[in-house]
Amino acid sequence: MSLRKIKKASQLIKNSNKTMVLTGAGISTESGIPDFRSPGTGLWENTDPMEVLSTSVLYNNPERFYKDGFNILLDMMDANPNKAHNILAEMENLGFIHGIITQNIDNLHQKAGSKYILEVHGNTRESSCMNCGNTVNINVLTEKVNSGEIPPKCNICGGTLRPDVILFGDMLPEAFNIALKEVETSDLLIVIGSSLMVAPVNYLPQMANKLIIINKGYTLMDNFCEVKIEASAGDTLEAILEEIEGK
Ligand code: NAD
Repeated sequence: MSLRKIKKASQLIKNSNKTMVLTGAGISTESGIPDFRSPGTGLWENTDPMEVLSTSVLYNNPERFYKDGFNILLDMMDANPNKAHNILAEMENLGFIHGIITQNIDNLHQKAGSKYILEVHGNTRESSCMNCGNTVNINVLTEKVNSGEIPPKCNICGGTLRPDVILFGDMLPEAFNIALKEVETSDLLIVIGSSLMVAPVNYLPQMANKLIIINKGYTLMDNFCEVKIEASAGDTLEAILEEIEGK
């Protein structure tokens, strides 16, 4: 890890009045959740997530959705936050960051204690009925699926329940519009653990006034940021916080 880049990133954060963070699947790999595109371990190596986590498979082949796609979601639910999630929560408490925009659906920023979180791809805490909109805890849906009720039915109207994650083919939630405004009114955006291949979230760094990228691999915005740090999210954030606090 380059000390020069850590110092530059820390200076940008100290000089910024408002800093937002955009996280992707790479921040959670150290919690044991595979991302999409890391060579060798990414989910894309074995399955095409677009095929099993899409509205098309949910509507037309619910057996496949609940057998293959839903299991990818369930595998995330017992994970614990890692150093990177914890340091972001601390940086928010200390006033160095304003909030987090996350593409992740693993609830790890909440578990780490972050307060202002915009979940632009939904979450795996809740599920809702596609007919009447009734919302229930994801455990209700999981119990139904585990007992063979596929597609799982809403107890109120008998419609189909689905997890509240944004699937390929879904519209983005209101949180994305808020995220656009937050980035527009920020001095600095820090992207952590995202290849920035997924649209329209990858539009956010294009709008940023200043940009720091912490990502182990290539991203589409590498040539347009003030600093790119190619290292582990946790180690990098730890070094940045120590530098900001002058330790
Ligand atoms: P991505 O898989 O496209 O990119 C992740 C990037 O993080 C890669 O470039 C990888 O090299 C890098 N990376 C991996 N481990 C890292 C680490 N420890 N430190 C720093 N960088 C690291 O992920 P994406 O851009 O978020 O897009 C994937 C989509 O899939 C998102 O929409 C997300 O919602 C979803 N997804 C979410 C989860 C989750 O909630 N944890 C997991 C898989 C996929």
